[in-house]
Formats: sequence, C-alpha cells, structure tokens
Amino acid sequence: MGKIHCGNTLGRAHGTQLVWFGTVPRMSLSTHLRQTLLDQFQSGHWRAGDRLPTERELSDQHGVSRTTVRKALLELKLQGLIEQTVGSGTYVSERAGDHLGRRVAQDSSRYTSPAELMEARLAMEPAIIDMAIRNANAADLQRMDRCCDEAERATTLEAFEHWDAELHQAIADAAHNSFVANVFELMKTVRAQGDWGQLKKKSVTPERRLAYQAEHREIVEALRDRDAARAREHTLAHLLHVRQNLLGY
Ligand SMILES: [Zn+2]
Repeated sequence: MGKIHCGNTLGRAHGTQLVWFGTVPRMSLSTHLRQTLLDQFQSGHWRAGDRLPTERELSDQHGVSRTTVRKALLELKLQGLIEQTVGSGTYVSERAGDHLGRRVAQDSSRYTSPAELMEARLAMEPAIIDMAIRNANAADLQRMDRCCDEAERATTLEAFEHWDAELHQAIADAAHNSFVANVFELMKTVRAQGDWGQLKKKSVTPERRLAYQAEHREIVEALRDRDAARAREHTLAHLLHVRQNLLGY
C-alpha cells in the first residue's frame, strides 16, 4: 500500500491512461483483469455478498490503471456478477453463483472426456439409488416410464440418446436433492457434447439399443418395487454394458 501506480498518475494528468501501456491493446488489459477476477470468484476466493477491493486497490494490486479496472468491473456488472452501490462499494452479487455455475458447466463439458464421464457415472449413479428409492413419488416414476416410452419410440439415435439421458436425469431428480440434481444436470451437459455423441453413434447398434431399453425398464421396475439392491445391481450392469460398448473395457 502507499504505492501510487503510474497509470493513475498518467490517467489523472492526461485524462487517459493509455499512453503508459504503449502498444498493449486497451481491451486485453481489462479483459485480462476481468478473467483474473472471474478466476478468483470461481476459486471461492470471493463469495456472494463479499465486498471487492476499491478501484484504487485493484489498480495497485494488478498494476493497471483505474480506467482499466472500471472497464473490467463494468463488464462484470453487465454480466450480473457484481453490484455497485454509490458510496458503499462493489459487491459480489447474489446471482454470481448461478452465473459461475453455468460457466463451470460449460468449462466442464468442454474438458470432460467420455472415459472421465463414464467413470463418474459408475461412481455416482449407483450411489444415489438409495436416495431415489426413499424419495421417489408417483410423478417421478411416471416421468421415468415416459422416458423409457420415448426412448423406445425414438426414430433417430440422437432422439434415443436424448431420452436415455433424460431417464438417468429423472432417476437422479427422484432423489429430491438439489445438489444431486445439479450434478446430474452437468452430466447431461457433458453427454450432449461432441465426443460422447460421436462415440455413442459409433457404438450403438440396433441390438445394443434394444438391450439398453430392456436394462432401463429393469432399473425403473426395481425402483418402483423400492428394491434398492436390485436397482443398484441393474444400474451398475447397465453402466458397465455402456462402458464396454463405448470404450471397449
Ligand atoms: Zn442408459
């Protein structure tokens, strides 16, 4: 603290700070700062309701002019990630969590390989069966039936994959736990990405599709019977079958 950044001095002296940065484009500095702040939001460094440092502090910390800080903050404000109140400063908005959640979802779907997704599904889908059995209501079971019906009726592989994913989501939603629902929503996003779709396209033959449909029905029937052991067994068998067809092991 106490250090006066040159950008400030020039900014005040000339009404613009750009002189100081020479050939570095103005946008890249504010975009870079915005990215740094986003990373800090995402890493949990700041949470909803936290007060951000002042413009001057941010300018000192990041070695950029206050105009650059203002631009970066304006972008974050337009994205709904921060709120600024006259006199009392800048705060991480309550909505930031949702926004960042979506960003995480997008990033994850971009970087998750089908093998990683398969491994995560094998760990998580059998694990939530108890919760689904405890909390599933009639509407949940109807929704699962409908997913099976639609998957069986599907005339394209894309439509089948869609209803397949919807069924697995419906089972997760039957746990009636918002955290579980969010995690599975993310899985569905990953399933919708190119790599998974391509592999699925290559791996699903008409015979395999028929087998998946039968396996789905068995899972739903076991859930309807509130038979946890059987539902877990069928879920695991189905996922191992999908993995074998998709990844060859
Ligand atoms: Zn399935």
